[in-house]
Amino acid sequence: MREELQKFIDTIPAVKDAFRLKETFWINDKKVPQAQQPAAALHPDQIEDARNRLERFAPYLEEVFPELKATGGIIESELREIPGMKDFLNTAYGAGIEGRLMLKMDSHLPISGSVKARGGIYEVLKHAEDLALEAGMLKETDNYRVLAEPKFREFFGKHTVQVGSTGNLGMSIGIMSAKLGFHVIVHMSADAKQWKKDLLRGRGVEVIEYADDYCAAVEQGRKNSDGDEMSYFVDDENSKNLFLGYSVAGERLKNQLDRQNIPVDRDHPLFVYIPCGIGGAPGGVTYGLKQIYGDNVHCFFTEPVHACCMMLGMATGLQDQVSVKDLGIDGRTDADGLAVGRPSAFVGKVVEPMLSGIATIEDKKLYDLMRGLLDKEDIFIEPSACASFGALIRPTELKGYLEKAGLTDKMKNGTHIAWATGGSMVPEETRAAYLKMGL
Ligand SMILES: *Cc1c(COP(=O)(O)O)cnc(C)c1O
Repeated sequence: MREELQKFIDTIPAVKDAFRLKETFWINDKKVPQAQQPAAALHPDQIEDARNRLERFAPYLEEVFPELKATGGIIESELREIPGMKDFLNTAYGAGIEGRLMLKMDSHLPISGSVKARGGIYEVLKHAEDLALEAGMLKETDNYRVLAEPKFREFFGKHTVQVGSTGNLGMSIGIMSAKLGFHVIVHMSADAKQWKKDLLRGRGVEVIEYADDYCAAVEQGRKNSDGDEMSYFVDDENSKNLFLGYSVAGERLKNQLDRQNIPVDRDHPLFVYIPCGIGGAPGGVTYGLKQIYGDNVHCFFTEPVHACCMMLGMATGLQDQVSVKDLGIDGRTDADGLAVGRPSAFVGKVVEPMLSGIATIEDKKLYDLMRGLLDKEDIFIEPSACASFGALIRPTELKGYLEKAGLTDKMKNGTHIAWATGGSMVPEETRAAYLKMGL
């Protein structure tokens, strides 16, 4: 262990819990009201820019992915109320949830079946657009359906896209890049599941496997890419484009809540719980939601006990200068989408003034929650996604937060959203194996 971390273990209870491999719930005391948000590394206008870009690409996406016909090329997931799961959490965990419990089903996002179908696909599209604009082959005012033509596939085929991944990011980047015609190399860490590698290879993606963890796969991928001027590296540790792709979810969610006549205001608070790996996905969604709902939305991240990197980075203020391994934590978790030992270099700083807190959860509970959701709602989500219930099953800490925020008497009118970040592409036999885990 790094010696200078001892003072954080001694003074911050959540860090002490993490060090002892105990579940914890860190409340962020650096959160400030929306009106006092400092200028960040990003500007809200950039969300608008990302949204417009996704709209430009919609005709192309509709053309090449039949499953996007229904939405006219927009990649979006259902927001569904899950009253049976609410009863289950209240009964089995004494969660005491009042108000509505909903599931944001990014687990069922088209194309790649995880939240990465937001950020990952967005970043590939942005890169493709940049290249085509620069080559004079495309104008922003064109109908982007033309990108399906052979001359574009041929053009993109001279370029390489590379990414390091624990699995799901590689799936999004791989599937989308291959569809456009890019040569694509996915550097997979040891946590990545075999079926993801098989699926990608089946789509013409080059998959390189590493015996080491996620950081090592990223490092190698970056090195590979930097040595090739025709290669572009999707940098999960630093990427603003990924973050912006995720942030578009904020406005999309607002439209869905509006359509379902679910109010969000001072008397109807919104609580959102998002599983966190390196931080890009939950950070981007949080950033997007905060621009819309300000103080009326309360965002929490959830992480595995063994991969609580964002909690450590934010609670200590060290951000990406600390890794779980520095505390002697092994980073091993069945929640492969969250198996990250060191947080993003910029997300922690961006969300520091707006995030409500971070809960950690033991792996074995993920399987119980998985079975509960399947049993009560007939919805299957993967272990990582089940972490979205991790804060809701810690009623004592949540109660403390509500009291401090003066929200206790408002929660019966509130809405909780668990962000289910992945699952629909998990093969049948893997599902069956998951459902028997931890029994
Ligand atoms: C990637 C992923 C997350 C978290 O996203 P980060 O950007 O790594 O924080 C959560 N759940 C699933 C299923 C994922 O694949």
